[in-house]
Amino acid sequence: MLLTRLARVSQEVAATSARSRKIALLAELFRDAEADDVPIVIPYLAGRLPQGRLGIGWKVLSRPVAPAAEPTLTVREVDARLTELGKVSGAGSQAERARLVGELMGAATEDEQRFLFGLITGEVRQGALDAVAVEGLAVATGAPPGDVRRAVMLAGSLQNVAQALLADGPESLARFRLTVGRPVLPMLAHTASSVAEAVGKLGACAVEEKLDGIRVQVHREGDTVRIYTRTLDDITDRLPELTSAALELRGERFILDGEVIAFDDAGRPRSFQETAGRVGSRTDVTTAAKEIPVSPVFFDALSVDGHDLLDLPFAERHAELARLVPEPMRVRRALVSGPDDLPRAESFLAETLERGHEGVVVKALDAPYSAGRRGASWLKVKPVHTLDLVVLAAEWGHGRRTGKLSNLHLGARTADGGFAMLGKTFKGMTDAMLAWQTERLQQLAVESDDWVVTVRPELVVEIAYDGLQRSTRYPAGVTLRFARVVRYREDKRPEEADTVETLLAAHPEVRP
Ligand code: AMP
Repeated sequence: MLLTRLARVSQEVAATSARSRKIALLAELFRDAEADDVPIVIPYLAGRLPQGRLGIGWKVLSRPVAPAAEPTLTVREVDARLTELGKVSGAGSQAERARLVGELMGAATEDEQRFLFGLITGEVRQGALDAVAVEGLAVATGAPPGDVRRAVMLAGSLQNVAQALLADGPESLARFRLTVGRPVLPMLAHTASSVAEAVGKLGACAVEEKLDGIRVQVHREGDTVRIYTRTLDDITDRLPELTSAALELRGERFILDGEVIAFDDAGRPRSFQETAGRVGSRTDVTTAAKEIPVSPVFFDALSVDGHDLLDLPFAERHAELARLVPEPMRVRRALVSGPDDLPRAESFLAETLERGHEGVVVKALDAPYSAGRRGASWLKVKPVHTLDLVVLAAEWGHGRRTGKLSNLHLGARTADGGFAMLGKTFKGMTDAMLAWQTERLQQLAVESDDWVVTVRPELVVEIAYDGLQRSTRYPAGVTLRFARVVRYREDKRPEEADTVETLLAAHPEVRP
């Protein structure tokens, strides 16, 4: 496929707000794509490079190069050239990279140059594209959209499904089944501002403890156990006590979803840093497991005895979970029949906080498991306001913080796939965090001077704040009060950050 085709479609898709038009444009593009183009076309459409970061500076990219008169570059050729660029290292590498960039830009037309610039700097990221791309693929290949969506969910990758569909047609979707030993993306939660709001939205529900640990998906097949993280990394070797726990359960073949967390002797949760540090440590696991043992707390069952439970209502999946997992290893919960039963939900939240947990997750009893999606049927409620925001820039510190990137510019997602700055903070950072962010943010830099470093919007940071106030200085018309850093969320992608819309919905007091 020619790059010019992709560049044009990408621009048209970004320019139209009509979902049906976006789908039609993508369907047409997929019809013309070959299966081998897919690993490039899909990330390019989302504005991402398959190679990840190339570390090519804005300055090198913006050097003017005479454009080609005719489009000849194919997406595969561009990809090969960028792979080559990524491999350049050692002495003289700066000059060599600049030469290769010049060569690539010289082979591109003006439109293509613009597209490549956006792609390489990360400025054309289009987060919300996956859902439309699924529909486009369905139209292009004649596969039922629901089947494509489910396959993507189970494969955890739009790319793999697109490749199979374009190579082998709709029958290939049967390959993407829920299989023990192959992790699927976990279901995620939306935020509600109170238990009353959550119960009001969901009706009959389970109100569960929200444990501040690490999400785990536990697969067992006979004597073999594998444990995966939220981002599908295999961490089996780091958590021997989880393997033992899974082997003691009553089933031989299952996939369970839960959280792993360290408790102290009194049964209260230890700090998130302790749990995360333990789960993160790979060396001397035996000693680590003695010092900070962790426990699994399960809350869902995705597959039992070869039966796929994803489409069953939560109430039925939980019944399967309860059959397999003894109560102490399941998350504590209260069943609530609906808004009339609100006092039960509220007292459960109060007890949960009393026990040292961060809040509750309210779950609709009739909802299926939507893997990889922030389903509206799981709502988390935390009394302290926190947001997942994206770092847009950082200012150099003064005094004790000279030489460190300190004051962060924080952005929430906007409806058009961009980010709106909500405010700044230099509070809540430990020295280790300051050192880490100084290095990490410079890797993401697109522009820098003595005062501020502007970065690609890729790093997600969890921010606590006391409330919102109106502000004419910021684009969303509001800013955060007393924003402070809680922690970096490298497990989250910028597409998962909170949106201006949800923020405003949670704070009716600042709406005009
Ligand atoms: P957050 O990471 O703030 O978006 O909150 C969602 C996360 O809370 C999930 O990914 C889980 O890791 C965690 N969590 C803790 N307890 C529960 C629970 N009972 N149900 C679902 N998720 C939970």
